[in-house]
Amino acid sequence: MSIARSWRVKKQRYTLTGELCHHCGSTVFPPRDVCPECAKPAYDPVRLSGLGEVYSFTTVFEAPRGFDAQAPYNLALIKLREGPMLTAQLTDVDSKDIHIGMPVEMVTRKLSVEGDEGLIQYGYKFRPQMMALAA
Ligand code: ZN
Repeated sequence: MSIARSWRVKKQRYTLTGELCHHCGSTVFPPRDVCPECAKPAYDPVRLSGLGEVYSFTTVFEAPRGFDAQAPYNLALIKLREGPMLTAQLTDVDSKDIHIGMPVEMVTRKLSVEGDEGLIQYGYKFRPQMMALAA
């Protein structure tokens, strides 16, 4: 992975940056340089709110390598307020309390631990929106 790409991926992971297509107005996430809606280039980075709702979810019992310490965990397809869908782990919630349409917000959390050195990777997860819980 090149430094530029690494930096870009990092930025995307920490701040949930998408791209705005000026040709059709779509918000694109993750950034991919070609708009999936109209197939044209030319994007401006756009910072996404990190707010969305659970579109569908599943509980993962057989976790991939690096994630096994966290299994079982809840994986959700999340529809962002800006439109794009993404897959992310849900945190701070019991699987029995998750429901379709549940408002969620992005948080930065430890994603996985790799190898004997315990290299920790951080990235985004989603949790129930605090405002929604208080209401
Ligand atoms: Zn477009």
